[in-house]
This record gives sequence, C-alpha cells and structure tokens, in this order.
Amino acid sequence: MRRCPYCKVGTEGDLVKCPLCQSKLTGEAQAPCYPEFEAQKKQSVFYKIQLAVVWGLLIVGIGLDFMVGLRIPGFPDLHWGLLWAMWLFGFEFGIMRQFKPGTGSAGKVFMLGLITLALWCVTAHCFGFMDVTLDIVIPSALAATITANFVLALVDKNGNSMSYLLSGFLLGVVPSLIVFFISYKMPLAWAICLMVSLGLFAGSIIFKGRAVAEELKRRFHV
Ligand SMILES: [Zn+2]
Repeated sequence: MRRCPYCKVGTEGDLVKCPLCQSKLTGEAQAPCYPEFEAQKKQSVFYKIQLAVVWGLLIVGIGLDFMVGLRIPGFPDLHWGLLWAMWLFGFEFGIMRQFKPGTGSAGKVFMLGLITLALWCVTAHCFGFMDVTLDIVIPSALAATITANFVLALVDKNGNSMSYLLSGFLLGVVPSLIVFFISYKMPLAWAICLMVSLGLFAGSIIFKGRAVAEELKRRFHV
C-alpha cells in the first residue's frame, strides 16, 4: 500500500499522487484498481496535437498581420489577424465542448451552431456582406441545423428526442419572428426556414410523439 507522508492516509492500487493533497506517495504499489482507458488516451493525444497546430496558426496569423503588415486586397484598414484569432478561439472552444462529458449531442450542435453564427456575423460586418448574411446565410444555416436535429431526433435511442425537437423549434421559430418584428418583412429564405422548422416539428411529433411524451415524464418526474 502507498502512503501519503503528509495526510497519513494509505491508497489502494498504483496511484502516484495523493488524491487529497497531490503530493508524491511513498511505498510499494499494488495492482492497479482501475483499467486503462484507451479512448481517453487517444483523445488526449489528438487534443494536444490540434492545440499545438491552433497555437501555431494563431501566432503566424497575428505575426503576418501586425508585424509583417500583410493586408487583404481591398481592405487596407482591416486587421484580419484579429478575425483569424477569433475563429481559432471559436474552433478551440468547439473542440473543448466536444470533449466535455455530460452534454448531449443536441446541446453540442446547438452551441456550435450559435458560436459559428456569431463569428460569421462579426466577419460579415468587417467584410461588408452583412445583408446577404442576414437574408440568406443565417436562415439557410438554421434550416440545415434544424434538419440535422430532426434526423438526430428520429434515430436517437437514448430518449433525447425532445432536446433535438426543442432546439430545432427554437432555432427556427424564434429568429424568424425576431427578423419579422424588426424589419416587418419576411425574406424568402427566412420564410422557408420557418416552414422547415414548423413542418419538421410536426413531423417529429407524429413520428416520435410517444418517445417525447415518455421523455417529458422522465425529465419532469410526472
Ligand atoms: Zn496527501
């Protein structure tokens, strides 16, 4: 049994550090208590490699922009390095979310979509394609996300249909209504997005109604 010289506790297995104070344990190790977890090891290697690549890209981008003074043709005043950094941080945040245990796929898709849209809007503002973005890109991206959520809701075997349904519904109906009340008009792509959202919502109630009802009972303990 290994012992912590500070906490005066013994630990089973082959732990190297004290679970209480993180000091180095002394004494003979026993057989490991827990099996090696291969998936986690692979994830950790992948995570470190992509982190190194992202840091490299970040430094190169900022360096080319601020130190070399490289400019995008047509945008002499734009510090594109900052946009570059913003997208890289967004990507890194997305990766971190993917590895975070305990959040369902619906939540991940929802967050990733939201972050991407926010970054896209900032970029569109800087490069001056905000009109196309508002009228076409955002509603198309939302409609695609809603369709993906619908498919996920249909194939879900873990009783999470409602999360997919709800995020699909919120992503379609809420932004369409906001656009309508701000501009008093409904561009074609937004109208399609709203129809896709309502149609697929009805479709999933028809196909997965029972699963959703059971999930409601389970989540709200009724
Ligand atoms: Zn200790």
